[in-house]
Amino acid sequence: MEPLIDMQGVTRHYQMGDQKVVALAGVDFAIAVGEMVAVVGTSGSGKTTLMNILGCLDTPTSGSYRLRGQAVSGLSDDDLSRLRNREIGFVFQNFQLLARADAWRNVELPLVYRDVPRAERRERAAAMLQRVGLGHRMHHRSHELSGGQRQRVAVARALVAEPSLLLADEPTGNLDSATQQEILALFQDLHRAGHTIIIVTHEPSLAAQCPRVIRLADGRILSDGPPPGLAGPARVALAAPADSGPDPGPGPGSGPGSAR
Ligand code: ADP
Ligand code: MG
Repeated sequence: MEPLIDMQGVTRHYQMGDQKVVALAGVDFAIAVGEMVAVVGTSGSGKTTLMNILGCLDTPTSGSYRLRGQAVSGLSDDDLSRLRNREIGFVFQNFQLLARADAWRNVELPLVYRDVPRAERRERAAAMLQRVGLGHRMHHRSHELSGGQRQRVAVARALVAEPSLLLADEPTGNLDSATQQEILALFQDLHRAGHTIIIVTHEPSLAAQCPRVIRLADGRILSDGPPPGLAGPARVALAAPADSGPDPGPGPGSGPGSAR
């Protein structure tokens, strides 16, 4: 079967005056429907640049990116935004909820843009909030929710229109470690239900619980496979992490609360 995501020799350069910044220096990978992948790497290694391209917010300088078999590289801005609206759900570090709207309204918004009738919107938003464990908080506004609950609302919003791919850039960056673990457990639950999920994280303990980890350094893929400690053959192990220090820990099977 054709992979959901197929990247071949993708580069992204930025021109800064007469200096060329190489944010991505040529990355190749494929991701199948239903995979859960963590993207890790030090600050400046190209993670957000890669997520922007994956999410059709940006296009490569060179190389090919195919999403569900469709070549993304040559698309016009209009076609790109249509593709993005149909295929991608985004979750951000700072939640990006409408402060004055309640959880229900925040989650139904993507359906408003799709002209889904009101009654159906309300029903689907309610079902999605139930799905993320917030059925009892539908009428709470953003400031009436905890950080973890806000991120759950954001996940419900990202999924309500049934995208084929969920992209999360540092989704736990603003959360305490217990809540980080709780949100990771939600992603794992969605993964088991068949969603395709890509998460950028700085937390080795979270990446270690994802079945596949893509490690970036200087715009290149340093390694791509199961995290250290996960049983089974590595898919590709191009190199060991250069400066990751001691092994991040127990890896799979480390249940909630065991982080650090
Ligand atoms: P990460 O998310 O891993 O911290 P980024 O993808 O944001 O890394 O950045 C990768 C590299 O590209 C960095 O050196 C950064 O300074 C550079 N970069 C990112 N965005 C831009 C931009 N809009 N203009 C110029 N350089 C950029
Ligand atoms: Mg970033």
